[in-house]
Amino acid sequence: MLGKIFDIKRYAIHDGPGIRTTVFFKGCSLHCRWCHNPESQLFEEVRMTVKQKLGDRVFKESHVVGYELSVEQLMKEIAKDYVFFEESGGGVTFSGGEPLMQEDFLLEVLKQCKARNMHTCIDTAGVAPIHHLEDICRNTDLFLYDVKTADKSKFEEFIGMGFDRTIDNLKRIANQGVHIIARIPVIPRFNDDEGSMRQIIALLKDIPQIREVNLLPFHRNGYDKYKRLGMTYGMGQTQSLKEPDLEPLKVLFKESGFTI
Ligand code: SF4
Repeated sequence: MLGKIFDIKRYAIHDGPGIRTTVFFKGCSLHCRWCHNPESQLFEEVRMTVKQKLGDRVFKESHVVGYELSVEQLMKEIAKDYVFFEESGGGVTFSGGEPLMQEDFLLEVLKQCKARNMHTCIDTAGVAPIHHLEDICRNTDLFLYDVKTADKSKFEEFIGMGFDRTIDNLKRIANQGVHIIARIPVIPRFNDDEGSMRQIIALLKDIPQIREVNLLPFHRNGYDKYKRLGMTYGMGQTQSLKEPDLEPLKVLFKESGFTI
């Protein structure tokens, strides 16, 4: 069975516990205006220019982003880092793009990771149909689940279609008893106000299994990629947020009983 990915990041420390290998799946049906991996959105390969330095001279080259590989090939890559997982309590994180859009391939890799006793994590926006929910959950230790807004019309304006599915999948996964951390990207003029966060808190309070939240400050890190892909950056001149900007929002969540 073949899957399509666009990157493998080793020694990641923000994608779950311990030292991790993060596998970035190609393809996502959403178009978040702040997406910092725009090269992930199309399932098909895309071309992105990269700068190469040779002595003092800088060359621009066009690189293809995205490639197919088999379950066995991916497991070989993951196995190279096994010693770091053991020593740090880490494991493998499947991110993207939207890893659940390649559900069969993902499930096969998850099963093989679990057979080798690796900690597994899925970083998802939950917008794909999940046909093998029980199997996926049985082989996943942690979900990092994006909750970007509780407002359906805002979701459709800034992100795309599929709001109901993301909430439905979140509840279905929670009912399977898997550890979930809700990840909230904090985006200026989208959800960085008290009212928007209180809506998200109300939504999450309906799902008692979720009591851990990550607030992720908006950053412009993906800006350059849009130019290199010939795409328009959806956030204009909006400046990156800093950790202190999130303090008042963190207080709201803590007061509502969430761990940040
Ligand atoms: S869900 Fe993630 S990968 Fe998909 S468009 Fe949004 S930020 Fe990008």
